[in-house]
Amino acid sequence: MTLIRLAGVTKSYPPSSKDGEEVVAVSDVDLTIDAGEICGIIGYSGAGKSTVLRLINALETPTAGTVEIDGRDITKLPERALRTLRGDIGMIFQQFNLFESRTVAGNIAYPLEIAKRPRAEITARVAELLEFVGLSAKAKNYPEQLSGGQKQRVGIARALATSPRILLADEATSALDPETTQEVLSLLRRVNEELGITVVVITHEMDVIRTLAHRVVVMEHGRIIEAGPVFDILSAPTEPATRRFVASIIEDVPEGPQLAALRERHPGRLVTLTIRDGEITQADVFAAFAAHGVRFELVHGGINDIGGRVFGHLTLALSGDPDAVQHAIDAASRVTQLTEEDARG
Ligand code: ADP
Repeated sequence: MTLIRLAGVTKSYPPSSKDGEEVVAVSDVDLTIDAGEICGIIGYSGAGKSTVLRLINALETPTAGTVEIDGRDITKLPERALRTLRGDIGMIFQQFNLFESRTVAGNIAYPLEIAKRPRAEITARVAELLEFVGLSAKAKNYPEQLSGGQKQRVGIARALATSPRILLADEATSALDPETTQEVLSLLRRVNEELGITVVVITHEMDVIRTLAHRVVVMEHGRIIEAGPVFDILSAPTEPATRRFVASIIEDVPEGPQLAALRERHPGRLVTLTIRDGEITQADVFAAFAAHGVRFELVHGGINDIGGRVFGHLTLALSGDPDAVQHAIDAASRVTQLTEEDARG
């Protein structure tokens, strides 16, 4: 079921000076996000990701197009309906945005106080949320006494206080070290799996997408350039920007200087084996080489597991009698997709 839908959405800002140009932050974006999914939006700085988030929670109105939540156009809602809508959408931030003068419990209670919930209900809900994020022991501490990861867990608890259906995460792990990032990502996964909350994360880190998201949307210059299930996009990116993001976390086929260095070190023939989702049995390929008396070394590449599905590239340097090498390559090519590195140039 579609929960969030952007159709033909453009958001532009007027020029900042008299002879300046209009800034088109988001351009003709169509995006649907299903209830219960984790959707990751990736792009470089300035790609339009934050603007998309602000359009979803109605902090911005589109210049053109419609934004629907649950089939309802939110661009024309009266103020009271907007407040209800925002209670249904939680948000967390890169810099946590906690109130330094409030305790951990006080921060989490804040949205409930604004919503004028009874005191007893607030106390019970805060205790429940502290437990969920594993910070019951820190209830009376102040943000400055917490680590970055703990602060973000408070941010998550606060965002969940009003029991939203949607959680928007704006570079939520970008200020954290890798280990703490993993902790926060696994908490976000629990938010999705245990509470059934739809999560939209924006990030410039492909690793966040790989670890957390079900589906990825790649943005560049305000447009969506590629979108699909994370496995599909990571294993076969088509757009140059997507390929660069994928290359940041995955050893792809060797190119450019990498390939030149390999060539230098391995004067024999170099072939790359592409593995995707069990379509190819590595053992068959290696057996083909062994049967022809061809020796090989693995010189580049790797195998990736995305949600239990496997893909990767393995580059092999072959050595032995040239005729035997040719026969081995022919035999292996019959059971797999082999690419000769010289052929790619
Ligand atoms: P991202 O989150 O991917 O870094 P943003 O959505 O923040 O990208 O910004 C997209 C583009 O829109 C950028 O060029 C940015 O400078 C511009 N922009 C965003 N918000 C405003 C604004 N309020 N006024 C003018 N320009 C803006």
